Amino acid sequence: MRPPLRQDLESLTAYMAPQVDAPVRLNTNECAYPLPEGFAEDLAGAVRRIPFHRYPDREASGLRAGLAEMTGHQVEGIWAANGSNEVLQHLCLAYGGPGRTVLLFDPTYSMHALIPRMVGMDLVREPLPPGFVLDHASATDAVARRAPDVVFLCSPNNPTGNAQPAETVDALCRAAPLVVADEAYVEFGGTSVQPLLDRHPNLVVVRTFSKAFSLAAVRLGYCLASEEIVDDLRKVRLPYHLSSLTQEAGRVALRHLPEARTVLAAIVDQRDRILDGLAAMPGVEAFPSAANFVLFRTAAHAPTVWKDLLARGVLIRDVSSGPGLEGCLRVTAGTPEETGAFLDALRETREGSR
Ligand code: PMP
Repeated sequence: MRPPLRQDLESLTAYMAPQVDAPVRLNTNECAYPLPEGFAEDLAGAVRRIPFHRYPDREASGLRAGLAEMTGHQVEGIWAANGSNEVLQHLCLAYGGPGRTVLLFDPTYSMHALIPRMVGMDLVREPLPPGFVLDHASATDAVARRAPDVVFLCSPNNPTGNAQPAETVDALCRAAPLVVADEAYVEFGGTSVQPLLDRHPNLVVVRTFSKAFSLAAVRLGYCLASEEIVDDLRKVRLPYHLSSLTQEAGRVALRHLPEARTVLAAIVDQRDRILDGLAAMPGVEAFPSAANFVLFRTAAHAPTVWKDLLARGVLIRDVSSGPGLEGCLRVTAGTPEETGAFLDALRETREGSR
């Protein structure tokens, strides 16, 4: 007999980015380039020195000290976990749970809806204004009407690509008990709201090693917050949640930060090349992007375009079933070759459908 699932999970759909083995994979917004060879060599050395029969450092002290140095934020206000998704989960466990509400602005990252529901929270969703930019009046009006316990805002926003104004986050922090600013893509563009942390002890800035750091395989994310918030997060993490392997990968990556940063400009160039390429295609509307991906709307049936691209070896993301995303697809900026393959394949599918 199948055990009865928690009732509030019955209508939930599991996270489902298709993992298809296509030659050109531009569907999950990873960095197009791995870290250089030297990273793997240094990591191998660090792994050899791990005392594997012992539990990891529960406080991830070395890694957090490195993050403090990189960000200029006090180490007591830094928290790390298995991907920024787990950071978001810890935040929802600590400040959410049954009877509490999270406010989202759609369209946004699908896990911002899924993680709160996993922990039994109620969701309230407001549409982003046309152009997807959230002005502070709309933001504070939504908070006044919805009275959420937690507000999520993503900047640059996935999947729309645009950054949100820092004034909006500032206004949200004055209005709501807890504001989570997801900056998974901030290294590619937009302005970080980290400077607001001094003024707003109810703000958490969440970042990841999965995108600009080229370490999606490692599963490492972190947040910047107040010391008190980090104390609260300790109450909901599992003991030794961050493995020694993960901590070492993060520490070694921090030593290779300058190399990781050298590819950012090349990725931004490819993003702009996608924007230019799409702008020249009739029947395609591309949205401005500050991230390493581009959202675009096609007059043609989006799931069919997605399938036609895959048939040509190019995997992108069909987001057309999301709120406010009718006809939309999302493509990650790749290497020049990958980006070229996408643009060529899209041109071909469009010619084929005429
Ligand atoms: N936030 C946003 C906006 C994302 O797009 C993603 C990954 N797609 C994440 C968080 C989660 O990233 P990770 O768990 O790999 O750090």
